[in-house]
Amino acid sequence: MAIDTRKCVGCSDCVVACQTENDVPIGFCRDWVTESVHGSYPNVELEIRSERCNHCENAPCVRCCPTGASHIVEGGVVLVTGNKCIGCGACIQSCPYDARYSHPEGYVDKCTFCNHLVSRGGKPACVAVCPTKCMHFGDLDDPNSEVSNALKNRKFKVLAPEAGTNPQIYYLT
Ligand code: SF4
Ligand code: SF4
Ligand code: SF4
Repeated sequence: MAIDTRKCVGCSDCVVACQTENDVPIGFCRDWVTESVHGSYPNVELEIRSERCNHCENAPCVRCCPTGASHIVEGGVVLVTGNKCIGCGACIQSCPYDARYSHPEGYVDKCTFCNHLVSRGGKPACVAVCPTKCMHFGDLDDPNSEVSNALKNRKFKVLAPEAGTNPQIYYLT
C-alpha cells in the first residue's frame, strides 16, 4: 500500500469504513489517523497519515507467535487465525507500530488488508472509501500496478525503518 500524505485530509473515513466492514468492536480500531508537525515557524508542515498494520516482510509478530496463529500468506499479507490464537499477547508486545489489539472475544486482531474483499477482486474498504483517493493498493511485484506507479515519481518513506521489520506501507511525502 502507498499512502499520499499530501492528499490525506484526516477525515477518518478510512477508520469508519474499516470498523464497519470488519465489525471492529467499539473502542478498538484496525486503522487510525496520525498528525505530525515538521519544521519550525514560519516553515511548518503538518503531515497527516492513515496508519495500520504495515504487513512487515520481516514481521516480529509472526516470529514470536507460539501457535502459528500469526502468519504470512501468499502475497505478503500478515494475518491472524482467530481460533489458533491463545491471546498470549506476545505479538502485541513485539509490534513496533502498536498495530494489534486484544479482541474482547479472546484473540488478537489487526488489519487484514481486507483480504476477504481483495481475494474477490475488490479493494480494501479504507482504500475504496477515501474521498481524496490518497491510498493505492496492489502488487508491488507488478511494475504496472497502481501501487507501483504511485511510487515511481514520488519520494516516499516507511515508518520506523530502524525497527528492521521491512514494512510494506509506503508514505508518499
Ligand atoms: Fe506485525 Fe506490527 Fe508489522 Fe503488522 S506492523 S506485520 S502487526 S510487526
Ligand atoms: Fe499468536 Fe495470538 Fe499469542 Fe498473538 S496473542 S502471539 S496471535 S497466540
Ligand atoms: Fe481496515 Fe481493511 Fe483498511 Fe486494513 S485494509 S485498515 S482491515 S479497511
